[in-house]
Amino acid sequence: MKIIVEKYGGTSVGTFEQINLVAKRVIETKKSGYAVVVVVSAMGKTTDNLINMAKEVSSEPGSREMGMLVSTGEMVSSALLAMAIQNLGQNAIALTGSQCGIVTSSDYDNARIKEIDTMSIKEQLLQDYIVVVTGFQGKNGRDITLLGRGGSDASAVAIAAALGAVECRILTDVSGIFTADPRIVNNASLLKGISYEEMIELAASGAQIMMGRSVEIARNYNLEIFIGPGFDNKYGTVITKEDNLERITITGLSSDEDVALVNLYDLKYVTRDTSLILNEIAEKGINIILMLTNRLSERKTNLTFAVKPEYTLEIGAILEVFQKARRIGHYSIDTDVAQVSVVGSGIACTHGVVADLYTALAQNKIDILMASTSEIKISVFIKKCRAISAVKILHDKFSLAGLKRELKGV
Ligand code: ASP
Ligand code: MG
Repeated sequence: MKIIVEKYGGTSVGTFEQINLVAKRVIETKKSGYAVVVVVSAMGKTTDNLINMAKEVSSEPGSREMGMLVSTGEMVSSALLAMAIQNLGQNAIALTGSQCGIVTSSDYDNARIKEIDTMSIKEQLLQDYIVVVTGFQGKNGRDITLLGRGGSDASAVAIAAALGAVECRILTDVSGIFTADPRIVNNASLLKGISYEEMIELAASGAQIMMGRSVEIARNYNLEIFIGPGFDNKYGTVITKEDNLERITITGLSSDEDVALVNLYDLKYVTRDTSLILNEIAEKGINIILMLTNRLSERKTNLTFAVKPEYTLEIGAILEVFQKARRIGHYSIDTDVAQVSVVGSGIACTHGVVADLYTALAQNKIDILMASTSEIKISVFIKKCRAISAVKILHDKFSLAGLKRELKGV
């Protein structure tokens, strides 16, 4: 049995007409000789609407019930899609995350998949059914858990890995992965291939096309992903191992305006106090995106880190206590920032990339508030209002228009 997993996002199942189109498309896949599992997201903006409904009745909705409420979005779309497939004369069955054995960790709104008991999916496939699975959800004990926003990607990849599928297709309303968001840069190039690592970095730095964690699962299982348009076979990008790709210095750019910088000045006992501050932040479940420290003299160190803006109030409360106790000189929180990142597996072995980036931004008078480099990514934090120009300038500087990223041997 050759299995294909196809995932359709919220924009591909946003209307009843689209659900009928998806039904036709998955039947075509089946007729081309595959056993088919379809993973669906909730229709259109359903998830946002469900979250807003909870806020209408409670200022702090309980996370268990939130799981129950929000998971219904995917139940609706999967049931409707199964009905649409049946209506076209093909056997289909809709299964919830729990019914198809997706066991997760216990954090209700950002759970990790621990294991998938594929027995029920396989039984249905063997009986020639198209299996339609609700994305974004699993179970912990008897409770329904959610995999985090964009989590249907993780459902699809994990199910494909567990079933040993020959292909995992993430089908969406865009043509694939571009060198930059084509809504910002109109001559951005479509990449034929991108490595797992590059895609994980792009997703972590603001590219919203795929959930980063789903790419991590694919990398761990060495599962290639095709991401492309649901209703056109011409385009698309393969996410694969670096070895299968031609090496290039820079593959893409992303920007993230949903970020804040926290600056701490004049820490006296830097290691001890930083560890105390970081532990308090960690206990609140807050993730630090990037951090830099700068020792100015024996008893004076400055520290800057980036977090999601929604956490700045909690962080401010923690820092207030340290400031009052004179453990830090002062602190500031800047939410008027954006992170612009340049990603590419060839950055580490090419000289002058950072210099080129600074030159381009300096020539255009874009001030860099914080920068950080790794083997595969250079990120700069700048004022929000300059983010779009910075992306355009860097796309030009690194000649990404017209870039061809081919798969080896294709
Ligand atoms: N419906 C969920 C969300 O909006 C999961 C997904 O779309 O992947 O985040
Ligand atoms: Mg998505």
